[in-house]
Amino acid sequence: MPRLAILDRDGTLVDVVRDAETGTVQTAFHPAQLRLLDGVVDGLAALASAGFTLAIATNQPGPAKGHFAREAVARTNGALVERLAAAGVTIAAVEACLHHPDGGEGGDTSLVGPCACRKPRPGMLLALMARFGAGAADTWMIGDSSADLEAARAAGVRSALLFAPGRCELCPLRHGPAGLGSPDLAAPRFDELVRRLLAAG
Ligand SMILES: [Mg+2]
Ligand SMILES: [Zn+2]
Repeated sequence: MPRLAILDRDGTLVDVVRDAETGTVQTAFHPAQLRLLDGVVDGLAALASAGFTLAIATNQPGPAKGHFAREAVARTNGALVERLAAAGVTIAAVEACLHHPDGGEGGDTSLVGPCACRKPRPGMLLALMARFGAGAADTWMIGDSSADLEAARAAGVRSALLFAPGRCELCPLRHGPAGLGSPDLAAPRFDELVRRLLAAG
């Protein structure tokens, strides 16, 4: 059976974007904003060496909320895949949920409403597992938020939580993972998380 690692994007592979003047935090929507987190390239390379297919599953509600165009999401995701490829890491697929249940001013109304793909729902995970023929026992979800953990649970796959206290301002786990359900394993850096994942078999 193929093994599949499903990766969250923001706060897991790339950092959130901080505006020093306003103090606001958002997710990257332009290639120039992409900053890989420490240990990501090494960790992804280790997963690939161990036989994992790598795929990204990311919630990107910006277009539904009117924050930026859906083309910006595609361009930014494409740039991330290219940057990782240049570092020797192949991302086999990117699934992005562009929906948001409530939307926002100026948002694309065709993207507003409930969907099966927005994490914590498991739609993107199940689609990737079907696409690559990976069973639940051979699939891991790697992320930094409770939505990632819940999506993993809903898809029946194991979960690895990147948890660096105080780092992720957007992350619902910023005050600690207690009470949000426990991942199968956790670590504060991506490469360390992967070492633990590979040791878990
Ligand atoms: Mg995240
Ligand atoms: Zn969706």
